[in-house]
Amino acid sequence: DHQKRARDRRHFHALMMFTKVDKSTTLQGKFEVAMRSLVKHGHFLEDEVLVLHYVSDAASKELGEKVLPKLMMDAAFQYEVVFHDVVVLTEKLFPVVEAMQRHFSAGSGAYYSDAIFFLSVAMHRVMPAEITRIVQLDLDLKYRTNIRNLFQEFGHFSPEAVIGIVREMQPVYRHTFWQYRKENPRSGVGDPPPGGMPGFNSGVMLLHLQAMRRSALYNRLLEPEQVARLAERYRFRGHLGDQDFFTMIGMEHPELFHPLSCGWNRQLCTWWREHGYADVFRLYYRCDEPVHIYHGNCNTPIPDD
Ligand code: UDP
Ligand code: MN
Repeated sequence: DHQKRARDRRHFHALMMFTKVDKSTTLQGKFEVAMRSLVKHGHFLEDEVLVLHYVSDAASKELGEKVLPKLMMDAAFQYEVVFHDVVVLTEKLFPVVEAMQRHFSAGSGAYYSDAIFFLSVAMHRVMPAEITRIVQLDLDLKYRTNIRNLFQEFGHFSPEAVIGIVREMQPVYRHTFWQYRKENPRSGVGDPPPGGMPGFNSGVMLLHLQAMRRSALYNRLLEPEQVARLAERYRFRGHLGDQDFFTMIGMEHPELFHPLSCGWNRQLCTWWREHGYADVFRLYYRCDEPVHIYHGNCNTPIPDD
């Protein structure tokens, strides 16, 4: 068994949400940019394999199977592709995340189909135990560096950390925590960096599944009573799914999160600059680190390098 494992190739797991892609040429364009730039800059060792996981419906899977061989054609590394049925994953997820959906989903009901927006939160419960680490990535990304370097960040996690993530680059949580901030003006909650806690963005996430499984604290925070307790304490009501949950528990337990350099998820959306936050926008938007991954969130065009 020991020898078998020694002979085994090293697998690097990356997962992307990939639904309704057949219905949107915009999303197909983003997918192409993401995969081509990933291939262009991707380098792995000889015995290493990049495993690409896509969470799909039947029509998106069909499209993915058709176009991926072409997009991956120039890959100078080994890769495998795995499609996960979004319905099967949703069935596993729903019981775990149902209670938090009412706090972090649009609308008031806990819609079954919304559960998938919380996949990252319970990824350690739905992925097989052999997978100990996985990176979850949006489709509206453009890679400017070797994705293998992103996986190296797992090695820098503190013992308590379970998730590696980049801060949110707009004042959206300054807005969401409005009431808490009024009642606790010196808390730093929703304040800009470097001193404040602006919240997180879910476009690039390192999910240390082994640490997530082992962390008693993290798993307690998934319990409905704990979610309700914190949502009440922070007067939190959001609609951004997993990133709302991580942002909220991060205010209480920052040690659970390994802060990634802003260059690993350089968000480009400027929506909040035009919606009441022009005065403070730059404090949040600014990122002085080298850009490894551009994130064209809210359909923002990505610069040509
Ligand atoms: N997504 C998808 N199908 C859709 C819309 C979104 O699979 O119809 C996935 C895709 O991976 C995308 C992610 O969900 O990158 C998050 O959505 P998006 O990037 O548009 O949100 P934003 O970053 O602008 O908030
Ligand atoms: Mn995105």
